[in-house]
Amino acid sequence: MTQTASIVRCAVIGNPISHSRSPFIHQGFARQTGLALRYDTIEAPLSGFAREVERFFAEGGIGLNVTVPFKQEAFRLAGDALSARARIAGAVNTLWMKQDRLHGCNTDGVGLLGDITRLGYPPEGKRILIVGAGGAARGVLEPLLRAGCAVLRVVNRTPGRALELQDHLSLHAPELAARLQVGGLDQAAGSWDIVINATSSGLASQAPPLPAGLFAAGALAYDMVYGPRATAFMRQAADDGAATTADGLGMLVAQAAASFAIWHGRAPDIGSTLTALRDTLYT
Ligand code: NAP
Repeated sequence: MTQTASIVRCAVIGNPISHSRSPFIHQGFARQTGLALRYDTIEAPLSGFAREVERFFAEGGIGLNVTVPFKQEAFRLAGDALSARARIAGAVNTLWMKQDRLHGCNTDGVGLLGDITRLGYPPEGKRILIVGAGGAARGVLEPLLRAGCAVLRVVNRTPGRALELQDHLSLHAPELAARLQVGGLDQAAGSWDIVINATSSGLASQAPPLPAGLFAAGALAYDMVYGPRATAFMRQAADDGAATTADGLGMLVAQAAASFAIWHGRAPDIGSTLTALRDTLYT
């Protein structure tokens, strides 16, 4: 056997993709767990996702992470070989081949769950507000509800999109839907233990317009967006009385760890990789 034959090949596919931190994270996991891994980035043409996926696996790749804008297309490609989590999310960020069939899962939700638990806020019994009803919000509903949060309210700039999300959950997991409330941003008011910003407004350095007084004593404000400094949402939340604020870098590492475990059957250490990744944001 040649040396290269034992190297496992994985990649992340998206468009654009050059900014992706996934190669750094997965190579770090591989070093920790003694795995010989090659992890590439693949920029698929917007109309050529399926072709690139087919080529990757035909050339011997074993695992693909999927990012913007292809998560819904990956969901369709995996057909009915989907985890329950992916089916409820309606999106796939992790693909692999098993018995010559493409399989799909969504690890974004377990990534968020893992990170807020690491921060000392396990969802059980908590009142949770999610701002935003896009793909990221959709992916975290099932794990948060399954973990036993008391109430989960999703508010969105376009209220109809939050309603669609509720309809989708009622169809695929009716047993969870009773604890889900939805509405527009004007229905955010309440006393929340955890407020999660799942909007992309932070990418334009803005916080979503929210009423004051959202945070219960000791509450966590969590922004899925991340960067070298506190985000606009984190600053707004601290001013509004949140006890703890965090960005989404830990979620990114934790969802990668869940993908790594699916592909390689190994559980990497999240904390050390998160520290190393955080250091790269400042350089
Ligand atoms: P998406 O499907 O495009 O949805 C965007 C959401 O943001 C929608 O709910 C949209 O509301 C809302 N929004 C955008 N601009 C807004 C503004 N100025 N004020 C209020 N709401 C606004 O995006 P996504 O995939 O859900 O991703 C959302 C964010 O999460 C992105 O920034 C992404 O980078 C981040 N994310 C992070 C991780 C991680 O691992 N840390 C994982 C996944 C996603 P409308 O429906 O009204 O347009």
